[in-house]
Amino acid sequence: QGNQQVRGRFAPSPSGPLHFGSLVAAVGSYLHAKANNGLWFVRIEDIDTSRVDASAQGQILDALYAFGLHWDVDLQTQSQLQNGDRNCLKQTARLSRYQEVLDFLESKELIYGCACTRKEIKASGGLYQGTCRDKYLDLHNNPIRLKQTRPIYQFSDGIFGPQSCDPLMAQEDYIIKRRDGLFSYQLAVVVDDIDQGITHVVRGADIMPLTARQLSLYQTLEVDPPEFLHLPLAVTKPGHKLSKQNHAPAINSSNPQPELLKALSFLGYAQPSLSNKSLNLDSLAKASPQTILEWAVEHWSQTKINQQTEIII
Ligand code: GLU
Repeated sequence: QGNQQVRGRFAPSPSGPLHFGSLVAAVGSYLHAKANNGLWFVRIEDIDTSRVDASAQGQILDALYAFGLHWDVDLQTQSQLQNGDRNCLKQTARLSRYQEVLDFLESKELIYGCACTRKEIKASGGLYQGTCRDKYLDLHNNPIRLKQTRPIYQFSDGIFGPQSCDPLMAQEDYIIKRRDGLFSYQLAVVVDDIDQGITHVVRGADIMPLTARQLSLYQTLEVDPPEFLHLPLAVTKPGHKLSKQNHAPAINSSNPQPELLKALSFLGYAQPSLSNKSLNLDSLAKASPQTILEWAVEHWSQTKINQQTEIII
């Protein structure tokens, strides 16, 4: 990737307002991009329309703005933006593009329809065994699976270092178009990151287990993958990430400083030290979010990020 410009993104699913956990992903991806003189985009991952909350998109974008997290316009995908999108690419506007990729995979005989029920798969051990691979079932009335020809067993994460993947999971022919006709997140996220020319994916560690599958899709499509950096996940107790389901409070956009500083601390920024004359988190408490972020860009260090997949807040 050499001296290619860094292009990062924050890709929220608009299922609820921004909470502290998603703020960390937004701040981390923003700081990584800006500390590397890069561009930072916001993409609305509304592919799973059953989970979309109509007011969430506006709330998320307003909150990002209030926190000083101003995004760049992606000239590569600008023609796909519609009025009201506020310069953020939306997955639901890209269904024909996902279909195009699906058609390409079909032309390479890399996908197939699957008639197995969840119950049957569970009974056979939980992971799909490729039962329908050679049955040539209809692609229109069945979920579609990717024929796994390029399984990825390990990769290196920019924060957590070498990761190895469960081989059976790596080999699984996973679903790329669902029974209900929706494209899967796996397909959409990879195609979006390719089309936006993303060089670094910085996101929550909850998605680390899915990264190998995404990497295998890059291989299958013969595209160089971006680098992946996963951030510790904010949880209320082990295994419980902040989410709409567990009623994580929305972040308070009218008073962004405290939560912004908390996000920086979460990302390993030094606690205030009295002897340090340069600005520290404490003396920044009254600065504007913009000034806080400028300071944080200058002091970004990914090696200070805790290598713990979950941190209880
Ligand atoms: N849309 C996903 C989420 O909100 C993030 C996906 C990603 O960053 O790759 O959890």
